[in-house]
Parts: sequence; C-alpha cells; structure tokens
Amino acid sequence: MRLSRYFLPVLKETPSEAQIVSHRLMLRAGMIKQQAAGIYSWLPLGFKVLRKIEAIVHEEQIRAGHIPMLMPTLQSADLWKQSGRYDAYGPEMLRLTDRHGRDMLYGPTNEEMITEIVGTYVSSYKALPLTLYHIQWKFRDEVRPRFGVMRGREFYMKDGYNFDLTKEDALHAYNRHLVSYLRTYERMGLQAIPMRADSGPIGGDYTHEFLVLAETGESEVFYDAAITELKFGDREIDYDNREECQGVLEEFTSRYARTDETHDETAFAEIPEDRRRTARGIEVGQIFYFGTEYSEKMGAVVQGPDGKQVPLHMGSHGIGVSRLLGAIIEASHDDKGIIWPEGVTPFHCGIVNLKQGDAAADAACQGLYDALTKAGLEPLYDDRDERAGGKFATMDLIGLPWRITVGPRGLKNGVVELTSRRTGESQELSPEEAVKRVIEIYAPHHDHLRDEQPMAGRSFHTWV
Ligand code: ATP
Ligand code: MG
Repeated sequence: MRLSRYFLPVLKETPSEAQIVSHRLMLRAGMIKQQAAGIYSWLPLGFKVLRKIEAIVHEEQIRAGHIPMLMPTLQSADLWKQSGRYDAYGPEMLRLTDRHGRDMLYGPTNEEMITEIVGTYVSSYKALPLTLYHIQWKFRDEVRPRFGVMRGREFYMKDGYNFDLTKEDALHAYNRHLVSYLRTYERMGLQAIPMRADSGPIGGDYTHEFLVLAETGESEVFYDAAITELKFGDREIDYDNREECQGVLEEFTSRYARTDETHDETAFAEIPEDRRRTARGIEVGQIFYFGTEYSEKMGAVVQGPDGKQVPLHMGSHGIGVSRLLGAIIEASHDDKGIIWPEGVTPFHCGIVNLKQGDAAADAACQGLYDALTKAGLEPLYDDRDERAGGKFATMDLIGLPWRITVGPRGLKNGVVELTSRRTGESQELSPEEAVKRVIEIYAPHHDHLRDEQPMAGRSFHTWV
C-alpha cells in the first residue's frame, strides 16, 4: 500500500477521552472511531489488525479440529426463555421487539442457539465428538463501557461449544481448548496466563480465564512468578492424544495462578515469598466445562451406544478478538507509539523515502516495494511529499515492527537502512539484502515464506 492512497487519519493531539494507552494509541493511529458509547467503526488500519487476529484464531481452532460456522447476531427470545436466562441475564442484554411484536435480542453469547441447532440435527452418539465455533459480533449493554475496544458494548468474540457423550470426553475437549488457546496467544506475541476462575452464571466446576498482565487490567490476579517462565513455543501437538493435551494443561496450571474470585490466601502463602506476585490482568479468553444443564433444557439429547437417550456434556470457550487489539498494545508500546508483534502487524514493513522526487530514491523504494510484495508480504510505502521527521513519527506511531529507510546519500554507497521498531537498532544493507532479511524475519509467521504447503486446505483463506 502507498500511504498517499491509503486512509490513515492519524491524530496529532492526544484525545482527552481516552484513559489508557491502548485506547489513546488506537485513536491516534487512526484505527478506530467511536460512533456511540462502546461502539466503534474499524478504520482500515484497525480493521487490518482485527482480521489478522481473527485469522490466527481460525487457524488454531481448525488445527485443533474445531469446525467454523456462523450464527446470527439477532436471536429470538424464545430460546432464552427456554433456558431460563432471558430474565437471569438482566440489563446487559439488549432487547428489542420486531414489527410483529416478537421479542428479540442482540446475542451476548450463543449457548442456547448452538445447543438447539445440535439438538435438531444430532440424534446419535456416532456424530460425536463435535466442537463448533463462530467469530461473531456480540452485544452486552455494559454499565460502564470504557477503555476503547477493551470493554465495548458491541465487540467481536470467538465462541466455541463442544458436545460430547461423556464427561471424560468433554474434559478432553476442555484440555484441547486450553492448549489451542496457549498457541493462539503466543502467535500474537502475547503471554496469556491460564488462571483458575469463577464459573459465574454459566455454572460448572471447570473454568480457566486467560490473562495478559498489564497495569491497566481490570482484574486483580495472584500468581507464582514461576508461571511466567513457561512457553508453549513451536512444539507440535496431537490434539487427539488425550495424555498429551492433559500433560500440557498440567504443565501450565500446576503453579498457583488465580483471579481474585478464586484467590486463596492460605495456598498463596505457601509459594516462596520472592515468587509471590499480585498484579493486574486483562481477560482475553475463558474456557468452561459445564456438564449437561443446557443440553437437558434445550433438548440436545442423543441415543447412546446402549440405545438409551442421554443429554450431551458441553463446554463453551471464548476469545475476546476485538479486546485483543487493546491487550496487545498495552503489552507492546513505547512513548512514540505502538510496537506490533510480527504475528499481527497490519503491514510487515514500512518504506520511508527520505527524498520523494529524487529519481534514484523513488526507483529504489519502488524496487523494494515490488520485491516485498512479490514475496507475499505487505509493505507500507510512505511516498508522501513530507519531511523525514513526520514520516518517521507516523511509522513509529502506527507501530510497524520493521522499517526500511531510503535516501540519496545511502544509495550512493549502495545501501538502505533496516530499522527495528522494538530496539531502534539499524543496519545498513543493500536493498536485496534488506528484502532477504525481512523475508527471513517473517518466515516463522507465514507458511508461504518457508516454501511449505499451507496447512493443506486449512488455512484461513480456505476455511469455508
Ligand atoms: P468480563 O469479565 O471482562 O466482563 P466476561 O467474563 O463476561 O468478561 P466472557 O463471557 O468470558 O466474558 O467472554 C469471552 C471473552 O470476550 C472475554 O474473555 C473477553 O476477552 C471478551 N469480552 C467480554 N466482554 C467484553 C466486552 N464488553 N468488550 C470486549 N471484549 C469483551
Ligand atoms: Mg469471562
């Protein structure tokens, strides 16, 4: 993309309504625009990051064997009356009436609808195990929408639901989700710690929340510092292998890590003092196993191997896709702006032309642009007729992790400059070497840069 042709309404002033850094930076970088309290338009740069995060979520869900679909945002109240949650949900539910006087609502979550769907079509245990998910806009009429996309009223969520014959099978689904979430967050450059949580209105005994540590987080958390040493890394996992999934769960949940709702002072005091931590965290996901309650109410009952009718064991699993943008920025920024992790950056590399109109500089920039594009990367070329300082400030603000700077002086010596946004370190390289280096940097993030087949038929672009 050429910046002169893009729509990037960056703000010079710091917006006064934004209380936390991620909200300020998203507004300043021209990523979102508020349309009503807790409701945002996603401007092109913000939309691009949202799509990148969404793609990672899809890829990791599909890798774990979960099946994508799409349910509507508007739901009939009937289903919720059947489950008993129509009244229980309270004022957070946005209720509306259609022209025929029928009670409708904008879905805050989809347990009722998915259970009704599965109950309609699945009649035998042979169709199990089954995990369906979608990524869809939700609405919760939060009392205090704030912090930009962190606590919106309309927000984008991945919610998945597993249906299993036995509790044991459903707990395997639980473990599988925990593992797939660890992978998902790490690919986004985030450390999200699974913490024992409270199951709240959904009920059930098993639930973990995934928290990103940040001073601006809304949850108070207590943990053993040893847990922050754990990395999922690039290990391959067989999601059908129960012991393997269980092993990862045990590894990542064996240390004390809890939200304030489940905090236990006595157990906490047993951690060696130098490892005891109290901090704040941003909830970016949660997983639940809750048994047969919804299945019984919504009729998700199948014929078991012995011919008897049994209600299905269920769990639900959510990732806050739009909240993740805020969480990533809270975890990765400096006083100049955002620093995107390579896995989610909206553009892979900025190209800054120090002297627009200089024949050699223009040609070199165009050459870099073409070479990166041909390799399957997306550069953002600042081809505006602007001062170098202004161009650097924009690149720093929008947070592209790599920048190539091109000027007549360097070109006389055959070099351009490759700069890391994170460290500020620069290297002088020939344009060809700079392109090669950028491709190497992104190779771990994109199958096509490694000359490998993308997950056969399973990459985001082909997931439907
Ligand atoms: P919270 O405790 O923050 O209100 P929740 O526990 O009610 O969230 P879940 O039902 O577990 O939320 O939803 C799954 C995920 O969706 C959460 O982990 C969070 O990341 C995200 N999420 C929930 N509410 C919002 C919101 N108002 N705005 C943005 N993201 C949200
Ligand atoms: Mg939650």
